[in-house]
Amino acid sequence: MLKALHHIAGAPRIASDGSFLDVHDPATGLCIAKVARGDAADVEAAVEVAGLAQPAWAALRPSERAAWLFRLAEAMERKAEDFIELEALDTGKPLALIRDIEFPRALANLRFFAAAVTQFASECHHGEAGLNYTLRQPLGVVACITPWNLPLYLFTWKIAPALATGNTVVAKPSELTPLSATRLAELASEIGLPPGVLNLVHGRGEDAGRALVTHPRVRAVSFTGSTRVGREIGAVCGGQLKKASLELGGKNASIVFADAPREGLAETLLRAGWQNSGQICLCGSRLLVQRSVFDEVRTALLEAAPRWVVGDPRHAETRLGPLASAAQFDRVCRAVREAREAGGRILLGGEPVRLDGRCEGGWFYAPTLIEDLPEDCPLHQQEIFGPVIVLQPFDDAADALRLANATPYGLAASVFTRDLATAHAMAARLHAGVIWINGWMIRDLRTPFGGFGDSGLGREGGLESLRFFTEPKNVCLPI
Ligand code: NAD
Repeated sequence: MLKALHHIAGAPRIASDGSFLDVHDPATGLCIAKVARGDAADVEAAVEVAGLAQPAWAALRPSERAAWLFRLAEAMERKAEDFIELEALDTGKPLALIRDIEFPRALANLRFFAAAVTQFASECHHGEAGLNYTLRQPLGVVACITPWNLPLYLFTWKIAPALATGNTVVAKPSELTPLSATRLAELASEIGLPPGVLNLVHGRGEDAGRALVTHPRVRAVSFTGSTRVGREIGAVCGGQLKKASLELGGKNASIVFADAPREGLAETLLRAGWQNSGQICLCGSRLLVQRSVFDEVRTALLEAAPRWVVGDPRHAETRLGPLASAAQFDRVCRAVREAREAGGRILLGGEPVRLDGRCEGGWFYAPTLIEDLPEDCPLHQQEIFGPVIVLQPFDDAADALRLANATPYGLAASVFTRDLATAHAMAARLHAGVIWINGWMIRDLRTPFGGFGDSGLGREGGLESLRFFTEPKNVCLPI
């Protein structure tokens, strides 16, 4: 059986009390690995070595740290198939999704921030009160805490800018999906990354995660995960006056106006709702359609839906794998049951999928379309995180805005229209940090990424990440 151990000071290490947690393959429901169940003692050990390694790491030139990240990306690329296999094993994602989208993005994250840090300039202000220049110095030891839905993609998204800017890292991947991050930490040591620069502590959020966030030597926490945990981390960081970047949940609207370009529309709307079985914070789980074209769009969705084949993630034709855990499966079943009870009409799916053979114990759920849910139904507000799209009609732009903005979240939205004035007016008024016009999930890594309200605090991406992981210090010469 595979074992995912901590990675501290460049070497694997078991938990201080020797205990493990089970890791499951969501496609079969079987336990396929054990992960070290870390606690405060393990965090203490990792933070200590990260602290020792930090001055020498910070003393390297940005181009030297960048070279390490480029080397790591190259080494990962050489082991691409191993990473794709591992990522599929504990997430249940279709291999094609990892191979075509998520693994390339993980490589791009490392390379992007390696290149970015070599171009990272700081500010200079003069002519008003002396000559001022700003130093941007690393924070020290930082924590990177990541969820289970995009394990390698989000892990690299955080560790790359943290390391590039001269911090050392203690990372805690989700206990449900620890395999790819463990392999990456091992690979970093294999290529000779100095011990202590990148450390990994596994375990449950309430043990290892909490100990990491509260540790006084950890100077910043970059967290992606649920709003509930984000709120708790924000409170701890506020109390300790440490930096926190919180990328949390979403309940995102795709808004289709009557004049929306039709080419590829249904496929984009379904992809927005169902990719990774709806387990992406950016998923467009609410589909608002202008009343005059509601029937037409619904028909197009139902025609395109059969291409979303649920099946064994190892089969080439599979587009939807299982949900990531039994808890997630139960959550989606419960949400759809509540939708039914609230009067929602199930147009498609609305039930678990039972597969034969290898995957008979897997947590598969049918891609689902629901309509006629009353406007005040709480399901319009709550993140379900499953392959469930709820359709709602709207009358005009004001009505669409009212519905789209009626959630406590504010992560993303997509507007589909040919009319530029409508598109820009909507973009300016939507409560969301990420807006697409006639598209979904088109990502330029230089852009600010993050959400309003319950979707989080702060932005990551491009210069925002580099700024987050550095402390600005202004130096003034009275000339
Ligand atoms: P989660 O909040 O349960 O866990 C995320 C990570 O935090 C895990 O590693 C977990 O072990 C750790 N953790 C849990 N409790 C902790 C605590 N008290 N202190 C410190 N760490 C703790 O989230 P999840 O269920 O793994 O992920 C799904 C959520 O992530 C969804 O809400 C989704 O929208 C969100 N998400 C957001 C983004 C974004 O960029 N906004 C991206 C992906 C996922």
